[in-house]
Amino acid sequence: MFDLIIRSANLPDGRKGIDIGITGGKISAIDRSIAAQAGEEIDAIGRLVSPPFVDPHFHMDATLSLGLPRMNVSGTLLEGIALWGELRPIVTKEELVDRALRYCDLAVTQGLLFIRSHVDTSDPKLVTVEAMIEVREKVAPYIDLQLVAFPQDGYYRAADGISSFNRALDMGVDIVGGIPHFERTMGDGTASVEALCRIAADRGLPVDMHCDETDDPLSRHIETLAAQTIRFGLQGRVAGSHLTSMHSMDNYYVSKLIPLMAEARINVIPNPLINIMLQGRHDTYPKRRGMTRVRELMDAGLNVSFGHDCVMDPWYSMGSGDMLEVGHMAIHVAQMAGIDDKKKIFDALTVNSAKTMGLEGYGLEVGCNADLVILQAQDTLEALRLKPNRLAVLRRGKVIARSAPRIGELLLAGRPARIDSSLDYAPRD
Ligand SMILES: [Zn+2]
Repeated sequence: MFDLIIRSANLPDGRKGIDIGITGGKISAIDRSIAAQAGEEIDAIGRLVSPPFVDPHFHMDATLSLGLPRMNVSGTLLEGIALWGELRPIVTKEELVDRALRYCDLAVTQGLLFIRSHVDTSDPKLVTVEAMIEVREKVAPYIDLQLVAFPQDGYYRAADGISSFNRALDMGVDIVGGIPHFERTMGDGTASVEALCRIAADRGLPVDMHCDETDDPLSRHIETLAAQTIRFGLQGRVAGSHLTSMHSMDNYYVSKLIPLMAEARINVIPNPLINIMLQGRHDTYPKRRGMTRVRELMDAGLNVSFGHDCVMDPWYSMGSGDMLEVGHMAIHVAQMAGIDDKKKIFDALTVNSAKTMGLEGYGLEVGCNADLVILQAQDTLEALRLKPNRLAVLRRGKVIARSAPRIGELLLAGRPARIDSSLDYAPRD
């Protein structure tokens, strides 16, 4: 006996017309046709049912602050950091909590139920940390929120950087962050990577650093991060976020670097929307793309997962909490247009990110948590193409968000009256 059966689902691995039985909040059967009855049934009518989207890189303390206290006039990374520095001293805990909760509402409707957020620890008052810890508790019934201690103004460079950072970890932040390329010198950056990996080893925490978010090919902190990961025995528990300098590095150097990263089992987190928007700003033409080497890193066996990074904040006025928008951009920037490529990109928004975040019970297997999304698309390729509505979002077997299918009404004589951009336009077999 099942609590719920989802009938006729297409799965991300390509299986079609599959039934998914749910009992006690877990997936208890996946079969071509489940004969049993259930208290409730949902007919997916041949639409894609996926595990939820996972965002491994976000800034929940800055989200939805667009226009406060002013707009980013130049639209650059450095003005964004300066602007956040203006907002941070005047923001209240209540505002931070309110904005984060509103973002989480949006995320749930987009089927995004797992988020890793960096939290700025630079201001010694640590209002951001207090607020995000409160948010982590409040959203726990519907979103798993991991928090990274993020020394935005530099671990060494900020006046109280080290003490504030350590206090944030004492308060219960989950992960050790860093920003080596923003320290005063390359030497300070290198030293910060070593110091922060040591802290992670001592405290038994994972690491996730903003690393080499620059077009400077000589910004090579990822090499140090990989080496320190091995030195401190942190293999598989360390993430390098952005790594945009790899785009511009010398190919010989990269041929040595990628195997080192693989040995350290570094989780790689590019942020395609932000990277394509913010990198290459010192170029005239040709203008670099500034995203790290996604295909080469995947081919070398590294776990690559994509982050949204920003939604309507000092760095990025756009964004919608839709990880498919992130994947759509990734396909274009990485030029991953093949069929297998698109499958890899979808994995980078779901299972790879779950691995990066160390999620347990995630996935579409018997015994996993019944956390699922039904999309208005028939397969992963169509999902990436259309960024369709999430018809239903389930958490532990309960529907927690719904959207109506997106149907266009057409008022043209002799043409169809209704257009479903998924079903009506699927390629014919
Ligand atoms: Zn970031």
